[in-house]
Amino acid sequence: MPIRFVYFDLDDTLLDHRRAERMALADLYEAHRAHFGEHDLEVLRTTYHAHNVVVWRRYAAGALTKAEAKHLRFARTLDALGLTTLDPDALSDEYLACYARHWAFIDGAQAAFHAVADRLPVGILTNGFVEVQRAKLERFPDLRDRAQAVVISEEVGHLKPHPKLFAHAAAAAGAPPEALLYVGDSYPSDVEGARGAGWDVAWYTADGSRDAAVFRFHDWNDLLARLG
Ligand SMILES: [Mg+2]
Repeated sequence: MPIRFVYFDLDDTLLDHRRAERMALADLYEAHRAHFGEHDLEVLRTTYHAHNVVVWRRYAAGALTKAEAKHLRFARTLDALGLTTLDPDALSDEYLACYARHWAFIDGAQAAFHAVADRLPVGILTNGFVEVQRAKLERFPDLRDRAQAVVISEEVGHLKPHPKLFAHAAAAAGAPPEALLYVGDSYPSDVEGARGAGWDVAWYTADGSRDAAVFRFHDWNDLLARLG
């Protein structure tokens, strides 16, 4: 069946989340340089990332509330670094403010999004904290304005790769699963989630090592060529 609707993932597909996270942690590090003692910035980044992944997984599984997740990722980072003089909740708020200052499109993604939206109806399907993801759509109103459906996991109550989130998105698009294409960067969340729901997938990745059965691209022109 031809593709009739294209959903895009937001973080690390259209927007460079990873870069914004790295820059925000650099801002925190500079602002609180004296507290970090002998720890360098890369130690902060590595430690935060390790704890954030674990906390996110538990939040996604419903084992933590959003407030607990926001608190814990910084509380555990500070604990691991032996830093007792910084308040994790204040740091979390500061982090989110710094993070927002560094939001930007991935190279080529904005033009490609418009090119796809010129041909087919498009939507956004994203995990993440709802207020943060909504703020991104306010910052980049062309995403919000051209999207015919915006599906944020927290608003639905299930995170990718949960089949109920994909079913909700399919209903919002008004198309059967086999007429939907999902464009995303995460193998477990996006590729496995969309395939499990019966959608077609375009995997945005530089990693060619895994799963040759999936269409993958790292040059946005390749995605446009695929759509014909
Ligand atoms: Mg992503």
